[in-house]
Amino acid sequence: MTNSTKIPSKILIVEDENVVALYIKASLLEAGYGFVAIVGSGEEAIESTAIYQPDLVLMDIRLGGSIDGIETARQIGEQSNVPIIFLTAHIDRDTLNRAKATDPFGYLVKPFDNQNLIITIEIALARFNAEEAIRESLRQQKIFNELRSRFVAVISHELRNPLSSILFSSELLQRCGDSVSPDRRDLYFQRIHGAVQRMNQLLNDVLIIGETEAGKLECNPMPLNLELFCQELIFEIQPEKKPNCVINFIYDLTAGLPVDFEIRLDRKLLTHILGNILSNAVKYSLNSRNVRFTVQVMAQEIYFEVEDHGIGIPEADLPSLFNDFYRASNVKAISGTGLGLSIVKQYVELHGGTIVVQSIENYGSTFKVVLPITVENISSHTS
Ligand code: ADP
Repeated sequence: MTNSTKIPSKILIVEDENVVALYIKASLLEAGYGFVAIVGSGEEAIESTAIYQPDLVLMDIRLGGSIDGIETARQIGEQSNVPIIFLTAHIDRDTLNRAKATDPFGYLVKPFDNQNLIITIEIALARFNAEEAIRESLRQQKIFNELRSRFVAVISHELRNPLSSILFSSELLQRCGDSVSPDRRDLYFQRIHGAVQRMNQLLNDVLIIGETEAGKLECNPMPLNLELFCQELIFEIQPEKKPNCVINFIYDLTAGLPVDFEIRLDRKLLTHILGNILSNAVKYSLNSRNVRFTVQVMAQEIYFEVEDHGIGIPEADLPSLFNDFYRASNVKAISGTGLGLSIVKQYVELHGGTIVVQSIENYGSTFKVVLPITVENISSHTS
């Protein structure tokens, strides 16, 4: 047999006449197909399809049991996407109409010969594969369209706000001339500066996404004083708009780990990973609710945990949180691009680590990152 399609390994035969079932099985094995099982009732067929997920089902219409082959096909169609070929000796108009409604992939009239069986199976599989390819391409198109809409929404929103701020502040500076007080003048310049920084950050994030997609980024672990690094990072993030939201830092070296061990991590990747998670924790926190940042250094890995008591994340948004330009539905007026966590995830993976998030809306969020480390024993180098 010439076979351009992939040979299916699993075919389920639903046939209550044992002799016919065994004939089909022998024909399939001879033609090089694998098969799953022979079952004699609709109920068994539904169960076997769910368990074994066959590539194709050969379904007798008249089955002993409470449901016939057409009803069985209908119920299978509700649960799984598997091509079904009906087998029967005789069919009246009503039965044919019911069979057509289940959108079968073929129909074989008994008695059929070996060649007819194989040709019908081959055509059904070729059609199923072609339809799958179309479905996949439509899925990809849908994902692309959603991404494009999110991209346009975020970029226009995140550019328009700082641009308006620049326009407004520069107009005031121009219009008021020398009459503006030095303090006011500083404020307007600060606003312009902040707006330019935000736009710059947005462009940097878009560039990073491009670089990670092109596989251009590398991970270069270097010796790092992790405790000091974290303290400096907190110092940079802390003074942001919410002075009442304090980041409480807990640094824990696992007992038994010599203090002169040297931790190696990629500073640039880590700055982005922790910087983003911490500034999000502050940004999405309610005022006066502190953030807890725990770092635990273990022999093989480092565990980072950032816990806040902020707006939390709706359950429905959690699976998409690390996608480009994705923002949860409860962010309201809190500004952002939905790019940070996507970059964080890629950086964590580049470092060979993992990231998970647990969150309850209106209660708070906890981000957990585990990074493997290269720990150098300095004393072994110097001795
Ligand atoms: P953004 O620039 O919007 O903050 P991120 O990629 O950093 O983008 O985060 C994606 C989304 O995840 C955010 O828009 C927000 O909906 C949600 N999120 C991230 N961190 C938190 C947090 N600590 N608390 C609540 N929501 C968060």
